[in-house]
Amino acid sequence: MRLTVIGCAGSFPGPASAASSYLLQSEDAEGRTWNVLLDLGNGALGPLQRVLDPSELDALGLSHLHADHVADVSALYVYLKYRPDRPAAHERQRRGPLAVHGPFGTASRLGAAYGLTAGESMSDHLAVHVWRPDRPVRVGPMTLIPVAVEHPVPAYGVRVEGPSDHDPARTVTLAYSGDTDACAGLDELADGVDVLLAEASFVEGRDDGVDGIHLTGRRAGEAAARGRVGRLVLTHIPAWNAPGVGLAEARGVYEGPIELAAPGVVVVI
Ligand SMILES: [Zn+2]
Ligand SMILES: [Zn+2]
Repeated sequence: MRLTVIGCAGSFPGPASAASSYLLQSEDAEGRTWNVLLDLGNGALGPLQRVLDPSELDALGLSHLHADHVADVSALYVYLKYRPDRPAAHERQRRGPLAVHGPFGTASRLGAAYGLTAGESMSDHLAVHVWRPDRPVRVGPMTLIPVAVEHPVPAYGVRVEGPSDHDPARTVTLAYSGDTDACAGLDELADGVDVLLAEASFVEGRDDGVDGIHLTGRRAGEAAARGRVGRLVLTHIPAWNAPGVGLAEARGVYEGPIELAAPGVVVVI
């Protein structure tokens, strides 16, 4: 299983990155590559096309419905519906509509963002399902487990289990925090994972007293330490943060390897 960072700018697109979007890929026993996208924020459909044809996605998981995580689903729908050289009918039938997993209200929000009129639906190309923490989602060799986290709107992090790229007989796990403050859900996500992809939007000192919205680098690092994770990747850092602050905060509390997400970065697990 491997992670490719498509967009990692926090809260809004930055000068060097689209907003949140992460591609997870893994091969099954027959050698077929399965493609799972987590979030599709503002501008992320552009760089996604550098990695794959968006019609090859097998599933899209949405952590929550803030624009910096879902804005480009409208653009993806346009791509799937109107691409002139779209896959032949038998190929579309085999794949069916793209499975989209998100919080309650996802279908109506995506429809409103696209501008559907009464009676219209996006179900010809998007099949929307509501996350249920007790119902893991299988996508080829990968399993997605949503975990509710703490944010001002209903929000989930996702644990993704799949075969190791280094040794397919071994199962590895990546956890994506989505947007969250420190909470029991974050600890559940991080518990024992190989890679924790954690947001670090806030800065210690600057954002003190604002609870229930975002992690700082320090709080992400503390979650990584509590979960004894193998590796921490910090993401969702807004362009207005001073470079390196979140990384330095996390280094103060977590001794394992830490890196910053950047567009195009690939993490092989
Ligand atoms: Zn966000
Ligand atoms: Zn958010």
